[in-house]
Amino acid sequence: MTRIGFLGLGHMGLPMAKNLIAAGHDVVGFDLVPAAVEAAGAAGIPVASFGVDAVAGAEVVITMFPAGKHVIAAYQDGLLAAAEPGTLFIESSTIAVDEARTAHALAIEAGHRSVDAPVSGGVVGAENATLAFMVGGSDEDFAEALPLLEAMGKRIVHCGGPGLGQAAKICNNMILGVSQIVVAEAFVLAERLGLEHQAMYDVVSQASGQCWSLTTNCPVPGPVPTSPANRDYQPGFAGALMAKDLGLAVQAIEGTGTDARMGRLAQEIYSAFADGPGAARDFSGIITDIRDAS
Ligand code: NAD
Repeated sequence: MTRIGFLGLGHMGLPMAKNLIAAGHDVVGFDLVPAAVEAAGAAGIPVASFGVDAVAGAEVVITMFPAGKHVIAAYQDGLLAAAEPGTLFIESSTIAVDEARTAHALAIEAGHRSVDAPVSGGVVGAENATLAFMVGGSDEDFAEALPLLEAMGKRIVHCGGPGLGQAAKICNNMILGVSQIVVAEAFVLAERLGLEHQAMYDVVSQASGQCWSLTTNCPVPGPVPTSPANRDYQPGFAGALMAKDLGLAVQAIEGTGTDARMGRLAQEIYSAFADGPGAARDFSGIITDIRDAS
């Protein structure tokens, strides 16, 4: 049993904390928002009155915040200082690679250990403990984090040193953003050419154009009955989150001087999508914008 401070009990953090308790760990949670605290209490998660109280005495601290600025502010505003020396910080929010490395350096400077461990799999994955974790940090810290991550996920990959978990996450989501757009464009092109959705699906799903954006997240209703297109694009993975992740990808593209034109274009397209009602719709709903503009 590990004593864990879990900070950030939102859509993802709450079910993740529940799964740690179900696996027999001693979890004390904290969130800034009263509604999240209430929901956590109702779910049987003990909640501290202050973040520093959740951290004091913990062997491991897990953070699941909206963005990097929240992580760095919380680390600097008392979390690192309140933790016992040598505490392992597992930072699971999706944040920029540079921010992950800054958070890691702050933790080390304060006498702690740290891994970045962003996730994919969404709220359903968090609820069912089937998340994928992409982890950056030392071999020793990864080994210590592993049993806890296994209580919340089913695929855990050690990607390398600090920040490389976040690097894997944003590279994956850059591929995802680009592929979802081009699958949607291909369906709209097929419509204009008189090719039925199902016929296109039957060919491409068995051919070299096959990809997750087609066979799981199919942007038209019908061929994949579980895809968000069949429920008016209720997420799934919301457009706002895709726009955020592509923004992190572009930050990394610029920081490294990578010639990644498709990634940049996907960021522009999803940023416009998320400026409107697309923010709360599944990102496969981009097909509606493409159809309207065609
Ligand atoms: P959320 O907004 O529902 O939850 C974040 C919680 O963190 C909020 O309840 C907020 O009050 C809390 N918080 C912020 N600062 C805090 C602080 N200093 N102390 C305590 N609590 C604090 O967000 P979410 O959907 O749970 O996502 C969390 C992270 O996971 C994000 O970085 C997101 O990009 C990433 N992610 C989300 C999904 C998804 O499908 N929702 C999938 C993969 C990754």
